[in-house]
Amino acid sequence: MTETKCIFCGWANRALVGENALAAAFRDAFPVSEGHTLIVPKRHAVTFLDLTEEETGAIFALARECAEALRKGDASIGGFNFGANAGACAGQTVFHCHFHLIPRRDGDHPHPRGGVRAVIPGKAAY
Ligand code: 5GP
Ligand code: ZN
Repeated sequence: MTETKCIFCGWANRALVGENALAAAFRDAFPVSEGHTLIVPKRHAVTFLDLTEEETGAIFALARECAEALRKGDASIGGFNFGANAGACAGQTVFHCHFHLIPRRDGDHPHPRGGVRAVIPGKAAY
């Protein structure tokens, strides 16, 4: 019963900002930007590679709903970074699959070009 020890398996006890049959969304406790949201499968799965097609679809649908709600409530949001760290070498620290939805605003980074390419220092610009 490893699932009971997983902090994100306790999704039902969190302040959800959205959910559907297979996925739940809540705010990140250490947000990269205001509104940083995590979208998780309700079932314990370690990375996106362990998701079913249905879970993948549910997560993407919920992410879109969350993004639209965030944008509607905050006109300063001009875009998003959306993605998952899969595996410790890719930076994953919580081993229950989660997608980061990170609102972006003009001026929040001196050189935003490249976005997620910045996971390796110096590789964002091309
Ligand atoms: P990872 O590094 O695995 O991709 O991301 C883990 C994320 O979970 C981090 O952004 C971190 O801030 C967030 N996090 C860690 N513990 C908690 C928690 O107890 N509650 C919430 N809401 N977020 C958490
Ligand atoms: Zn879990």
